[in-house]
Amino acid sequence: MEYEAVIGLEVHAQLKTDTKTFCSCSTVFALKPNINVCPVCLGMPGVLPVLNRKIVLYACMLSMAVNGSISKRSVFARKNYFYPDLPKGYQISQYELPINKNGVIGIQTDTGSRDVRLNRIHIEEDAGKLMHNHDGTSFVDFNRSGIPLLEIVSEPDMSNPDEAVAYLKKLRTILLYLGICDGNMEEGSLRCDANVSVRPKGETQLGVKAELKNMNSFRFIHKAIDYEIKRQIDILEDGGSIVQETRLWDEAAGITKSMRSKEEAHDYRYFPEPDLLSLEVDEELMEEARRAVPELPDVKARRFISGYNLPPYDAEVLTASKDLAGYFEDIVKLFDKPKTVSNWIMSEMLRFIKDIDTGIKTFKVTPAQTAKLLSLVEDGTISGKIAKTVYEQMIATGKEPEGIIKELGLEQISDEKAIQEIIKSVMAKNQKEVEQYRAGKEKVFGFFVGQAMKATAGKANPAMVNELLKKLLKEENK
Ligand SMILES: [Zn+2]
Repeated sequence: MEYEAVIGLEVHAQLKTDTKTFCSCSTVFALKPNINVCPVCLGMPGVLPVLNRKIVLYACMLSMAVNGSISKRSVFARKNYFYPDLPKGYQISQYELPINKNGVIGIQTDTGSRDVRLNRIHIEEDAGKLMHNHDGTSFVDFNRSGIPLLEIVSEPDMSNPDEAVAYLKKLRTILLYLGICDGNMEEGSLRCDANVSVRPKGETQLGVKAELKNMNSFRFIHKAIDYEIKRQIDILEDGGSIVQETRLWDEAAGITKSMRSKEEAHDYRYFPEPDLLSLEVDEELMEEARRAVPELPDVKARRFISGYNLPPYDAEVLTASKDLAGYFEDIVKLFDKPKTVSNWIMSEMLRFIKDIDTGIKTFKVTPAQTAKLLSLVEDGTISGKIAKTVYEQMIATGKEPEGIIKELGLEQISDEKAIQEIIKSVMAKNQKEVEQYRAGKEKVFGFFVGQAMKATAGKANPAMVNELLKKLLKEENK
């Protein structure tokens, strides 16, 4: 029997606000535990929460970016459960009336493109953090308690790990474009839980799902979902049945492990938060959100294809980061050959940048310097190959390309006489190869090009070397 997987993702995005969700404590990452705390986020009796307006603005921005529908009125709810990192005994979240319903995120994988529908986006506060010591003692850090989150819940529209990762990457890119989340998965600013089930192909009813947690990179998410699909199919093929449960990805072992049986929503005894009024989004805030949403990756990519005549692949790479797209456009303003610029960024620049999101901001070479370098190649001052050497120096020193070229004596040799002399001496030193070439072994030609370039430390104009070599090898043949 053939099986198909059904995958839905629940993503928690930590919002980049200055203060927490319901109090004025700082959200800045603190080196010491329990520094950013107050009676509100410690859940002391008698305190009252006050909602941070910025969170509502951010939620509306994301909603607009994914074409969701913003609820004019939404309601906060208490999600009740006990855990040592949750002194109140409940998290303030949204349940029946979230701030956003629906929405869609378009994804692309090797097998094609598709839309993943969103079920909802809601506002939620984070819990604290437990720290377990080797000696068996545990501590609680409440710095994270009350940090604002948006929970983004997709419909189960994905059917393989590639689609799940593509969806998450796209969602992360959108959050980064909006500037409302730093997207750092390792530090937990973006957390993803995956609901995975399998069913016989063609079956319309959903199978029993497992919820996967503890996957803090795209790679782990891919591996965990892949493993889980196989595990469930194996069980069904052996005549067993799947248990609804929460499973943790164990990276070291490369498997998912059962953590606990999965709670149902009714286990949380949700009820409307009595300490907060219902949330009403007015036109002023909507307008503010509209103005704050920038040109988004899909629209930008389409503009790069039509406006700069770039292939879709280039457009996709360049617009995967807002900063990179801006960097590209800044170069093109000064050096109007978009495809040349795109090639340079993709094959040269990105080799030196590990993490695009942080790397562009601290990259030493400015767009103006890159434009200058490319124009020096264009006008024949240096060869494309030498440009790579110059670029490495620019990255290392931050100096201007002209200065480096002068300093290292890298100007291209385009003097016909000088190149002729070099070729003649190469031919004199390699009589055997000259005869081979003349006997019809044309492959040797490449050898001569290599020798001539070597003799000039790569500085000879390659087009001229080719042209003159052909001429001289023939001439003496007569
Ligand atoms: Zn606080």
